[in-house]
Amino acid sequence: MQTLRDLPALRASILALRRDGKSVALVPTMGALHDGHMALVEEGRRRAKHVVVSIFVNPRQFGPNEDLDAYPRREATDAHMLQEAGVDILWAPTVDVMYPAGFSTNISLSGVTEGLDGAARPGHFDGVATVVTKLFNQVQPDVALFGEKDYQQLTVIRQMVIDLNLPVEIVGLPTQRAEDGLALSSRNTYLTEEERKQALALPRALGEAKRQMEKGASVDSALAKAIAMLANHGFDPIDYVTLCDAATLEPMTVLDRPARLLGAAKMGGTRLIDNIAVDPA
Ligand code: AMP
Repeated sequence: MQTLRDLPALRASILALRRDGKSVALVPTMGALHDGHMALVEEGRRRAKHVVVSIFVNPRQFGPNEDLDAYPRREATDAHMLQEAGVDILWAPTVDVMYPAGFSTNISLSGVTEGLDGAARPGHFDGVATVVTKLFNQVQPDVALFGEKDYQQLTVIRQMVIDLNLPVEIVGLPTQRAEDGLALSSRNTYLTEEERKQALALPRALGEAKRQMEKGASVDSALAKAIAMLANHGFDPIDYVTLCDAATLEPMTVLDRPARLLGAAKMGGTRLIDNIAVDPA
């Protein structure tokens, strides 16, 4: 595996990989890799001859009071995992390579970015859309893989690829969870032992609300119970627990089409997100 940090080296290596006419998959990450990331890598290997993984902690998708500086950085361990998994290139640009002096472009979507994390984290999806577009242009992958763990992000990227006619296939993969059900996340390393136990209320509250709604309970009452359960387990603040259209992310008050139940809340200082499919009978 090659670890590359500047664009001329990346371009040369991608050209060499493509010389045999073979396909390239890209897995964009912010590092501190876990089994969720590695599931994307494995699927990338199934779908393309070569796999490129990017590790870039993207300053433009963090708000001023968020955890950019504290975000876990473990490149040596990550590189070892990727090497073992048969990855061809680790693309790990510096901030100066990604955003040289004078960088002036911003990619901003309306609609799908407006609610949920878009409302709770102003500017977050501009940062995501801008860096993912750059990663696509840098690596020029045939296919790119993203996790449903970040369901709104996946929806935003699918919309952007349609809107901008980007020549890349987007594949979304199910959320990988710890044995007890907590979604794997690089941010879980922030949790104390006690917080880690309480955090389990997030997938459980979403799961219980899903069961109630699919049995015919009103959406409002199921959401209210989920919010109460999170509060009882010490989540504070609770940014949202919302039922949305699975494709457009428009909020829903009646379960009359395929939906996604999404939640975001803080446990201690750590902001956790999760989501689950909810389907009408
Ligand atoms: P991140 O490093 O958190 O930016 O995540 C990089 C990619 O991995 C994104 O597409 C995430 O949605 C995906 N990802 C993160 N956690 C998980 C998980 N538990 N299961 C599946 N995919 C995940």
